[in-house]
Amino acid sequence: NTLISADPRNNSSPLQTFVKAKRKINDIFGEIDDYVHDAVQYITATEGNDDLIQKSEAALVEEYVGKVTGIREVLKRDHMKVAFFGRTSNGKSSVINAMLRDKILPSGIGHTTNCFLQVEGSENGESYLMTEGSDMKQNVKSVGQLAHALCEEKLGESQLVRIFWPRDKCLLLRDDVVLVDSPGIDVTPNMDEWIDKHCLDADVFVLVVNAESTLMLTEKNFFHKVSTRLSKPNIFILNNRWDASVSEVEYIDQVRSQHSERAADFLVRELKVCSAKEAGERIFFISAKEVLQARLQEQKGLPAHSGALAEGFQTRYFEFQDFERKFEECISHSAVRTKFEQHSQRGKNIAVEVRDVMEKVYERALALQKEKTYLKKEVYDKLNFTEQQLMLITQEMKEKIRFMVEDVEQKVSKALSE
Ligand code: GDP
Repeated sequence: NTLISADPRNNSSPLQTFVKAKRKINDIFGEIDDYVHDAVQYITATEGNDDLIQKSEAALVEEYVGKVTGIREVLKRDHMKVAFFGRTSNGKSSVINAMLRDKILPSGIGHTTNCFLQVEGSENGESYLMTEGSDMKQNVKSVGQLAHALCEEKLGESQLVRIFWPRDKCLLLRDDVVLVDSPGIDVTPNMDEWIDKHCLDADVFVLVVNAESTLMLTEKNFFHKVSTRLSKPNIFILNNRWDASVSEVEYIDQVRSQHSERAADFLVRELKVCSAKEAGERIFFISAKEVLQARLQEQKGLPAHSGALAEGFQTRYFEFQDFERKFEECISHSAVRTKFEQHSQRGKNIAVEVRDVMEKVYERALALQKEKTYLKKEVYDKLNFTEQQLMLITQEMKEKIRFMVEDVEQKVSKALSE
């Protein structure tokens, strides 16, 4: 896949922190699995020997087989999840497409996302979609077809459609990032259901706002709700459509600092999810449409700026790349902590508990062995003694007999000579 190998971020991506941690914890759980199986095999072999292992200890170790399998399943499926929110037409789908470097999600007028759309890497290199509650893989060849397929479905606004896209087409998908697009926050959402179904396992939230307007109450309310359910959610705010600001170039700095201040105030003072310094790394002014267009040009081998782009494109493009870098660092670290910390602890506990049981068994086995050897020694000593006694006795007897024989001989020869 030329696309991935040509990407300079390939090996330096902060997402690798998660990818490597995932590989490592999966390997460790593979070893724990072997260890538990070995322990169970030993226990089965000594079954019924109550002197060696108690029933409760055997049950404890055997129970870990299922538990370890369960954890391994979860670990294999673990990914980093980012969810995008914002009002309709602020550019959520465009931001996702720009990040994925391809027109995957339908965007624009008439393609309002009316349910949750989740883009994730497909294992077999194919592209297909799956709707909630069905195992059927519907083939997707193009955006147009995807848009059509989504229109055909009668979906509720909280429902989820999963779009599987070839991993090798995009670094984010290859590195286990799952991106979720939401219906516009202005379509009177059932916020509680949205949060329960789609937000609790998200590592990062991206609020896409329109740089031409100000933060809306519905957008704020939604995140107020999210932050009551999750402690310190990671939130990025993207002021999209920043390209449109060039028409008011004399006010551009003023508008930018006003938006920045309001957004920072929202994150720091209202939601209390980050410090003022951190907020500086969470608020960006971008143009998703431009980035997508530029990246599509680049893939055709043309310079990024070869499309008809507004003034200041390069700066906005850099700012988008800066956002991607900060986003990758944030999601990778956050996901490692939330997804693996607990499991590492759990793995350690399982290993320690199995070791404790096995150590007790070993100590009992040693004690038994010692007892047997002692018994053996006792018998051995006794035998030895008897043998020695016997030998002594025999020796004595021999002496006596020899003495008697000699005596008899003497007496006989004497009698004969007489
Ligand atoms: P969504 O409803 O939030 O997913 O918004 P879309 O991504 O579908 O975008 C709505 C419309 O805005 C589309 O026609 C996009 O092409 C356009 N759009 C998105 N981002 C930008 C941008 O940065 N600048 C401009 N000028 N238009 C944009």
